[in-house]
Amino acid sequence: ASPLSNRLLAMTESATIAMAKKARELAALGVDVISLSFGEPDFQTPQYIKDAAKKAVDDGFTFYTPVPGTLELRQAICAKLKKENDLDYLPTNIVVSTGAKQALANAILSLVNPGDEVIVFSPYWVSYEEMVKLAEGVPVPLVGSLENDYKATAAQLEAAITPRTKLIMYSSPCNPTGAVFSKEELGEIAAVLARHPQVYALADEIYEYINFVGEHYSLARFPEVKDRVITVNGFSKGYAMTGWRLGYLAARADIASACDKLQGQITSGTCSIAQKAGTAALIGGHGSADEMVTAYHRRRDLVLDIAKDIPGLVMPTPSGAFYVFPDVSAFFGRTTAEGQVIKNSADLALYLLSDAHVAAVSGEAFGAPQCMRFSTAAADDKLVEAFQRIKKSLAKL
Ligand code: PLP
Repeated sequence: ASPLSNRLLAMTESATIAMAKKARELAALGVDVISLSFGEPDFQTPQYIKDAAKKAVDDGFTFYTPVPGTLELRQAICAKLKKENDLDYLPTNIVVSTGAKQALANAILSLVNPGDEVIVFSPYWVSYEEMVKLAEGVPVPLVGSLENDYKATAAQLEAAITPRTKLIMYSSPCNPTGAVFSKEELGEIAAVLARHPQVYALADEIYEYINFVGEHYSLARFPEVKDRVITVNGFSKGYAMTGWRLGYLAARADIASACDKLQGQITSGTCSIAQKAGTAALIGGHGSADEMVTAYHRRRDLVLDIAKDIPGLVMPTPSGAFYVFPDVSAFFGRTTAEGQVIKNSADLALYLLSDAHVAAVSGEAFGAPQCMRFSTAAADDKLVEAFQRIKKSLAKL
């Protein structure tokens, strides 16, 4: 019998990390693999942020920090939330964590009791479902339609809420679909939540700056629900700081305190040097993100332009983030030159890896088994090359 806990045995390995691992193994054998599996900016962290980190080391800022983050960083986060999102928070409402990933886990583990239902807007980011399961909650996918760019509607939400619903969660801009909720759509969702005072909301805004359509809006801006919204954000995507492991949440003081308590027993405050870097990032503003957004926008268009000539790919136009998420179900049931039948998206991802040497992630782990996710956070020429290879490989099926 396995010595591992049931908790761990029930958990699925992150599909994006698993695919990235496979791609790396193939690359180590000398194969020219183009990896579009990971959600990682291919940009360097801006220099002024690196400089602040170097200075932190030289200044000896190398000790434990307060568990929820340094006061100066939490103050800078409050100033950001006020200036950019029109949200009033105090440092006691903020918990800085080891990536937005830990902020999400803190919130879920702090709020969800065994058996509580958590409505996860679907398609969703791979870790949401596993985190809910870890908290012994019951993930309830709320599936958006292709016609609505995969965004769940307020009417769908109303119908999905039961007396056991504790939390809803979504990302906007969305990983994997790139869909962005408008102010109006969020207002309708807020109106539903206002009618169900036992339901909380986890709003993952990590792709806030990577938005091609206009204003980013926060669910917490609706005063009737602000107290029940936990807003998660971070530095990985907007500031190209994935490796620094820095994210945060903003929430009502009692919820923030609970997250602080939990984090204090697991990891404590995140890296002191990363916190100095994050403070500098916020004080410097997100001008550096603009250049990246221009590139992500251009790359999205490059990819859509090739994809429109690939019969069988049904690809909505992403409004933000750096992924495309086509429906690939037209290829299910087809046969490869080697005689292998493509049964599902996972088979197709493996075929594309072996035939086109392009790594992508099956939609299964995002709650959309008919789809496949390709990251567009790669250099323009690599993306063009990848999609030309994909086109060729799909034409052989
Ligand atoms: N939320 C979403 C939707 C993401 O796509 C990611 C990273 O891929 C995260 C959270 C986690 O970000 P971090 O690197 O800050 O942990």
